[in-house]
Amino acid sequence: MAVKTYKFGDNTQLSPHFNVQEFRCKCSQHHDILIAEELVDKLEKLYAKLDCSKIIITSGMRCPSYDISIGGNGGGQHPLGKAADVVCYNQNGDRISSKLVCCTAQDLGFGGIANIDTSYTATHLDVRTSNIWYGNEVINYHTVTDDFYKYYGIARGSTAQKSAEKSTALKGIDVSVHNGSINWNQVKADGVQFAILRAGYGREAYQKDQRFEEYYRNAKAVGMPVGSYWYSYATSVEEAKIEAQVCISILQGKQFEYPIYFDLEEQKAFATGKYNCSAMVRAFCGELENAGYFAGLYMSRSPFNSYMEDDIKNRYALWLAEYGSQLNYSGSVGMWQKSSTGRIAGISGNVDMNECYIDYAEKIKSAGLNGFSDCQIVDAPPIAPVAPALPKSRNDATVEVSINGETYSGKLNKQ
Ligand SMILES: [Zn+2]
Ligand SMILES: [Zn+2]
Repeated sequence: MAVKTYKFGDNTQLSPHFNVQEFRCKCSQHHDILIAEELVDKLEKLYAKLDCSKIIITSGMRCPSYDISIGGNGGGQHPLGKAADVVCYNQNGDRISSKLVCCTAQDLGFGGIANIDTSYTATHLDVRTSNIWYGNEVINYHTVTDDFYKYYGIARGSTAQKSAEKSTALKGIDVSVHNGSINWNQVKADGVQFAILRAGYGREAYQKDQRFEEYYRNAKAVGMPVGSYWYSYATSVEEAKIEAQVCISILQGKQFEYPIYFDLEEQKAFATGKYNCSAMVRAFCGELENAGYFAGLYMSRSPFNSYMEDDIKNRYALWLAEYGSQLNYSGSVGMWQKSSTGRIAGISGNVDMNECYIDYAEKIKSAGLNGFSDCQIVDAPPIAPVAPALPKSRNDATVEVSINGETYSGKLNKQ
């Protein structure tokens, strides 16, 4: 099939869902538009296969100078009229994950396919016929896989693909004692899919978060996957190691579907400089990894850019905070804390809101980390209340139990 040339103002309807104007170069010159027929044909097939309500072309044909101005080399598939960057929408109007778009585009025989943003919503597609390229631009610009299904862990088949349509990002919260009493049933019903619990802070075991045990127990009781974080006051590698050991002692015996994060945000730490801050992260996360945990780093985006050396960026699970409509970080990130003023049923006041882009639960469980080693029960069912064993001399006992996230206490009399 041919590449056709259209005049700048041409608004020919090329197919049921695509018009010449949608492929127009976004530069300021009014030049011709090149569009490969096969590109339109394949986009139309993608539209049908994904059952889209719309496909937005964010970038179609680009003249070489415009391509260069936005970071291209002027010689790629966009200048040839053979590429389109797209965002696909399902029938509910939600964006379809680019992970699923990549898999489907692979089935349709696109020659160049890549996810292009950290939130996995935009996909580059082209119809090159040689040197097939399956990339992930948030990882790097080279070929990253020969099979997107395998790469993204998406099972072939309609059921899995359907569910993947909604998996653009998982919605989660992070909580500490400051969030007070939490009704986890309501939290779950409000669409929260995971929770990161503060385990504690500093270098002493008594600095365990006062509600950590309660939150862990009650979140687990409603089947909420959890991770954890440790708020650091360390200013040296030695202190970071001590914090890690205290943290590990508090995590022991529990299971976490999400990573354990080193929370680095104290000015006192940043004041020690980039070299030392990076070393503290390696020290804390290294201790965690040695103890069988999936370690991560929580930081605000701006200090992260200033105080972390490059090797940290792709080494640990990365959780960046930046409040607003977007995360201004071009690298790969696993989780984004987007707000500190969210509202969730079952919690009074503001809650930190997060989006997660990685299936940590799958990674952690299959690797046997965070308490999920082979010999342990994975996802123990909620435990029915059991009264403690009573000493023979006593005829009553006061018990506290947790049912569906609520704590009950009362007196039991011996029969
Ligand atoms: Zn142009
Ligand atoms: Zn592109």
